[in-house]
Amino acid sequence: ACLDRIHAVDERVRAFLSVDDEGALAAARDVDARRAAGESLHRFAGVPIAVKDNMVTRGKPTTCASKILEGWLPPYDATVVERLHEVGLPIVGKTNMDEFAMGSSTERSAYGETHNPWDLDRIPGGSSGGSAAAVSAFMVPWALGSDTGGSIRQPAAVTGTVGAKPTYGGVSRYGLVAMASSLDQIGPFARNVADAAALQEIVGGHDPRDSTSLNAPVPPFEEIAAEAASSAKPLEGVRVGVVKQLGGEGCQEGVVASFQEALKTIEDLGAQVVEVSCPSLEYALGAYYLIMPAEVSSNLARFDGMRYGIRVEPEEGPVTAETVMAATRGAGFGPEVKRRIVLGTHVLSSGYYDAYYGSAQKVRTLVQRDFDAAFGEADVLVSPTSPVTAWELGSKLEDPLAMYVLDITTIPANLAGIPGISIPSGLADGLPVGLQILAPAHADAQMYRVAGAVE
Ligand code: GLN
Repeated sequence: ACLDRIHAVDERVRAFLSVDDEGALAAARDVDARRAAGESLHRFAGVPIAVKDNMVTRGKPTTCASKILEGWLPPYDATVVERLHEVGLPIVGKTNMDEFAMGSSTERSAYGETHNPWDLDRIPGGSSGGSAAAVSAFMVPWALGSDTGGSIRQPAAVTGTVGAKPTYGGVSRYGLVAMASSLDQIGPFARNVADAAALQEIVGGHDPRDSTSLNAPVPPFEEIAAEAASSAKPLEGVRVGVVKQLGGEGCQEGVVASFQEALKTIEDLGAQVVEVSCPSLEYALGAYYLIMPAEVSSNLARFDGMRYGIRVEPEEGPVTAETVMAATRGAGFGPEVKRRIVLGTHVLSSGYYDAYYGSAQKVRTLVQRDFDAAFGEADVLVSPTSPVTAWELGSKLEDPLAMYVLDITTIPANLAGIPGISIPSGLADGLPVGLQILAPAHADAQMYRVAGAVE
């Protein structure tokens, strides 16, 4: 049914970069056969899923939506992909994204943009826009995305789906093509909180192949979310903090109205709503756009025309390692990727390091301290996930800064490593709005409890 749906609507939505009919059907038949033979399987065995194209899949295309990886077939599976196979979830295909996850609209894919199923002339958010659109358009019940500065939560918000970024280290990054390693996290997309929670349970947990992976048992997130959803006053005794710096200035009117509604619901559910202040968040966006490109410039050095994907020889002059590298990168990387590599190389260069990268790292510490203090006054924090609803395709492409500033609400969680989820909170002018719920590091269970209650 999922494959039929994909073949019926994806010509218009363009959520997928590759669809694996054969592989998905084989996996589904395998589950059927094992079930018929009386094998006891995971209760979600057979549920189809889509995977963002920056997680490696053995023998199946993995492009990161970049020309530079065209034709590359990874020799191994990412840990998350291995876990999907272990449970028996057929992977129906790989989803579109901004090239190397750099962007907020999925327009920066080298293979064309994805369209928002709610209005095909609008962006689906990004960078995991393909995963969000696939779930939103009922092509799959589940998808995996990655979130470096909001790339799961923001597309979830603008497509009316649920998307969560776990605590840093909660899900293994082994086999996730790195964008900015200290910020990257894999997480679930689903159509409700319990489903997202269940998917995080499947892919989360310790992995010795990722040195930043947390070595702690995975709580029963789904049960926790479902229990909160079914109790009468699930938020009794819970303090919900409204972050003063997130969601006022620059927020679309309808988004503010929807947020106020959500706060009323939260109070009706028994919570105490308090205002908290995180003054350093004013500098979070600036710090992110220094730290992220710095890490990008280092991580993307591996695309040298020798090891992966395409190899382009210079049009004239000698063919040396350096000229092949330059020609390959010139042809293989898109403009946004080049912009960030140049920025990152600059901020790390001698003479500028302390002024840019060093200061940004100090701000990162201050953001973490602000959150620590805020979580002394509140159990979870809330804000609009995105200051705006889905904008029209093409309308912000000319001005990179105009798009960067919209990341203000999601970026702080990545800088601090804390978990965050976006859940649908109604419509503004007919378009979905998301409510963001943030919890302290390692308290993903608390995030799912509140999200399950508010949903
Ligand atoms: N929109 C942000 C950026 O462009 C976040 C991207 C992401 O989370 N991968 O960097």
